[in-house]
Amino acid sequence: MSLSLENLPLRPELRGRSAYGAPQLKVANQLNTNENPYPPSAELVEELVSEVRRIAPQLNRYPDRDAVELRGALADYVTERTGVEVTAAQVWAANGSNEVLQQLLQAFAGPGRSALGFTPSYSMHPVLSAGTQTEFLECPRGVDFRIDMAAARHAIAEHQPDVVFVTTPNNPTGDVTELGDIEELVKAAPGIVIVDEAYAEFSDGPSAVRLLAGYPDKLIVSRTMSKAFDFAGGRLGYFVADPAFVEAVMLVRLPYHLSALSQAAALVALRHRAATLETVAKLAAERDRVVAGLRELGYRVVDSQSNFIFFGEFSDQAAAWQAFLDREVLIRDVGQAGFLRATVGLPGENDAFLAAAAQLTDYQTDAEKGRA
Ligand code: PMP
Repeated sequence: MSLSLENLPLRPELRGRSAYGAPQLKVANQLNTNENPYPPSAELVEELVSEVRRIAPQLNRYPDRDAVELRGALADYVTERTGVEVTAAQVWAANGSNEVLQQLLQAFAGPGRSALGFTPSYSMHPVLSAGTQTEFLECPRGVDFRIDMAAARHAIAEHQPDVVFVTTPNNPTGDVTELGDIEELVKAAPGIVIVDEAYAEFSDGPSAVRLLAGYPDKLIVSRTMSKAFDFAGGRLGYFVADPAFVEAVMLVRLPYHLSALSQAAALVALRHRAATLETVAKLAAERDRVVAGLRELGYRVVDSQSNFIFFGEFSDQAAAWQAFLDREVLIRDVGQAGFLRATVGLPGENDAFLAAAAQLTDYQTDAEKGRA
């Protein structure tokens, strides 16, 4: 007989919590984890295979501990993308932006310190906070799930959080927080502000990287290759900030955290970025088509500048989620009453999603039904 968690001497703050749990199910239409649905190009795959062949004979040695070449390539990409000159010394890379965020909390939060988030937002921010014994504070979003700036100012003044998270475009709602508002939050915050730009490439808006020069001791911009970059399986996230923040995370990172294979694969993916990022425009066009389709069916859809859509309102979103799954469409119930989140997929997957949505209008609240 195996033990249950309650039988283990688990840390008290972890008791009763559940693990990050986007279901990984074998379903025809997987629209639940915000990946880019287009597979890497044949050219990219070829080059990756030959790179692996080249480095395989050296796998007896540890990799470059500080991933200098990769950080240089990421800096070039961010410079090209944002128009802001960024150097390798300002970039830090790890296994997905989740690890980047964890390292930042290890260095700047922890016991006796707090982090503030504008909820609903990325579900791992509170999980990573719990794992680092950081108190996580919530400031609820306002109209249309946008950050309520008055409430935000008030929450920062009242709680004096050591860390403020701003996710833009926000997951799960898809909306963007303007740079002016981010700057206001940075000015108000007594500690550091982490702008989580995991979905930056899907938005037309400017990156918070533009604000770094003005607030070098407070601002960090976290990004990832998991979404637009088509590289979720490669696990590569990074942040851009003053080089002092890179020195800080070096105090907590595990030695050789980023494998030689990860570094080499990410370099190949970066070299092929032009072709990969062409898919972003296709996904944005599909997103607009799906949003229009859902609105025609009477659903309420939050304006999205990302590769996912937050929609409702359902009288019971958990039942609606199951009904989508019964139609071979796996989407996401993030626990927000009345709403579900769907990732934009390939055109055929989006058709399957819209066809299911058309059959499920009975799950809408009565007010919603009246709109169709
Ligand atoms: N931030 C946000 C807002 C996300 O949605 C995600 C992925 N779901 C991440 C960070 C982490 O992604 P990864 O670790 O794959 O970089």
